[in-house]
Order: sequence, then C-alpha cells, then structure tokens
Amino acid sequence: MINYTPIIHSKLPNTGTTIFTVMSALAREHNAINLSQGFPDFEPPARLITAVSKAMRQGNNQYAPMAGNILLRERIAEKINANYGLSVNPETDITITAGGTQAIFTAILATVREDEEVILFAPAYDSYAPAIELAGGKAIFYDMEAPEYRVDWQKVKRLINQRTRMIIINNPHNPTGGILTAEDMSELEKLVHRTDIILLSDEVYEHIVFDGIQHQSVLRYPRLAERSFVVFSFGKIYHCTGWKVGYCVAPQPLMQEFRKVHQYNVFSVSSPVQAAFAEIIADKDWFEELGAFYEEKRNFFRQAISSSRFKLLPCSGAYFQLAAYSRISDERDVEFVVRLTKEKGVAAIPVSVFYRSHVDQSIIRFCFAKEEDTLKRAAERLLKV
Ligand code: GLN
Repeated sequence: MINYTPIIHSKLPNTGTTIFTVMSALAREHNAINLSQGFPDFEPPARLITAVSKAMRQGNNQYAPMAGNILLRERIAEKINANYGLSVNPETDITITAGGTQAIFTAILATVREDEEVILFAPAYDSYAPAIELAGGKAIFYDMEAPEYRVDWQKVKRLINQRTRMIIINNPHNPTGGILTAEDMSELEKLVHRTDIILLSDEVYEHIVFDGIQHQSVLRYPRLAERSFVVFSFGKIYHCTGWKVGYCVAPQPLMQEFRKVHQYNVFSVSSPVQAAFAEIIADKDWFEELGAFYEEKRNFFRQAISSSRFKLLPCSGAYFQLAAYSRISDERDVEFVVRLTKEKGVAAIPVSVFYRSHVDQSIIRFCFAKEEDTLKRAAERLLKV
C-alpha cells in the first residue's frame, strides 16, 4: 500500500503518453484495423531470421562492442560510399543504436545545453521536443502547412540566432510523406555555412522514396555531412521495428560526444541481431526494391480509398498517407481519430499533435505498411465514413 508519494517536479510537465502508444492501445481495445502506429503487419525476410538464430547458435550472445559490431559498421560504410559517395570511417564515424529514437535522443543529449535552441519543422516527430527539453534546451517550431508542407528557408533564417545549436530535419518526412529536394539541401547549406550549428538528420525512411525521386541524404552533401548526425533504422528497412536496431553516422568529433552518452545509456545493442544485419546488408537489391515495394502499397491504398470522402494529400516517401476529412466532420482531429477507431474500426494518427501550437487542419495519418488484404479491409470501412 502507498502511504506517501515523494514530491516530484516533472521534468516534462507538458508531455503525455506518445500518440503511437495511445492509438495502438485504442485499436487493440476496439479490435480496429491499426493504421495508426507505423509498423508493418508482414514479416522480415526469412534469411534475416535464419541469420539471427544462426548467430545465436554460434555463440554470438555476449556484449557487442560499445560502438557496434565492426563488420556491420564496415558494411554500412561501404553502403554509404556506394549510395552517397561519402567516405566514412567505420571505426570512428558509425555507432549502432537501439533504434532511431535512441540515436536521436543521444545526439541531442550529447550536444544541446541549457538554454540553447533547436529548430524543428512541424509537424515534427514527437520524440524530438521532449529530448531537447530534457537537455535543458528550447524547441523552436517552424510550422509547415498542408498540403505541400514546404519550407521557406528565408523564414527559417529569421529563427536563427546566437543560441541556435541545432536544426533537425526529417527526410523522407514522418508524418507528411514529404521529401526534401536538392534545392532545399542547397538552401540549408547556405543557412548553416560558417556557423556552429549542428544538423540532426532523421533519415529512417531512407530508400522509401517514390516516383523515381532520388533520396537527398545529407551524406550526399559534404558541407552538411561535416556537421551532421544522420540517423537510420534497420527496423524500417527490414520490416522488423520490434528489434529496435538502427545506427547513427557523424564525423568523429561529433561521434566522440555521442558515444560518451551512448556508452552509459544503452552501452551496446543486441549482438546476434547485429551479426545478422552484417550478413545480409551486402544485398543491394533489397534496398533498390524497397521503394517500389512501398510505392505499390501507396498506390493500392490511394486507389482503394479514392472514392471515399477523404481528400488525399501528396505522398512522395515514407509509409504514411495523409488524408483531410473536412468533408466528413468538423471535429478536432484528436476526437475524429478516436471516433474513427471506435465506431468505424480503423485507427489513424491525428496530425495536430506534431505541432507545438496544435495546428489542426483536419488531417490524419494512415500507415500503409500493411498486407494488401489489410489495406483492402481498411478501405472498405473508410469508404463508409
Ligand atoms: N515511428 C513510428 C510512427 O511514426 C512510431 C514509433 C513509436 O511508436 N515509437 O508511427
């Protein structure tokens, strides 16, 4: 029995439970088709699972090196070189992390100080701002607007001052499915040139880019790469979000600071899983086919709900489709998704939660990383809304 609760002044007084946990729980409770939290409902490649169990049977069961399995890091360096033409040192510039979120958190905690500012582009993935606040920093939101969610870099420039420590970009973008163009990257380059601003580039949906567009990784731009933490995720790329393995790439002086935090937070990441990724990552076809694989799902889902009353926004990457519901209801988006889940049996994510100012444009996010049958069943329900 509890008879006394110590007084705690919350370090995150304005933070509740992440929307992904809330909506997945609601979907389970109401037996709804879960298109809310982003994860595939299909399995990782069988050869990957075989490689993990082989690694376990061969005794790969103790701590991996703090920075990660060196063979895996070497393969990642080769992949970066082949895709983006950048030479990175696997010893010093790559760290394997417990997923993208941990890499993001670690990069922020390692570099942002009390009262420093970090510029975010809203709708912004929900883990960024709490990480900044825990570090004592301040999140400065640049609000992007539907339907294009473009960035006016001249306006971003006005947000920069002496206290600006970091800019966080997310490309391909969650939740909008937008992508940054080569022009955006060159504007960004100009903006940070001759400053000490660090970039954090969340590229966990690397390879999931559609319509023949080329992914503009910051690693293609040496003048951006020299000041960037770039975050990647194996979960997104190999359909295994539950394994929680990703990696961070940064030049040595930045990575050195990153590892000071990483070593005392997670220390190191699952060794059999790293060994397995090291084995299969050399298969380039997988990455080359991934965009087309998800493009087909995007097209299928868009087509399936095209005659609904939802208005579909453009989607160029990641595995999310935004839909405006103003023809259906004038409810707030957080209320609309609850009703959609309970009464219509499809769970989605409200986009307003990704804005500090809760900009509500009556837009929700559906995840289409699902079997065609799941998308079909969800579409049948959405057509009745
Ligand atoms: N990245 C996933 C999404 O956007 C959620 C990850 C999580 O639940 N923490 O849906």
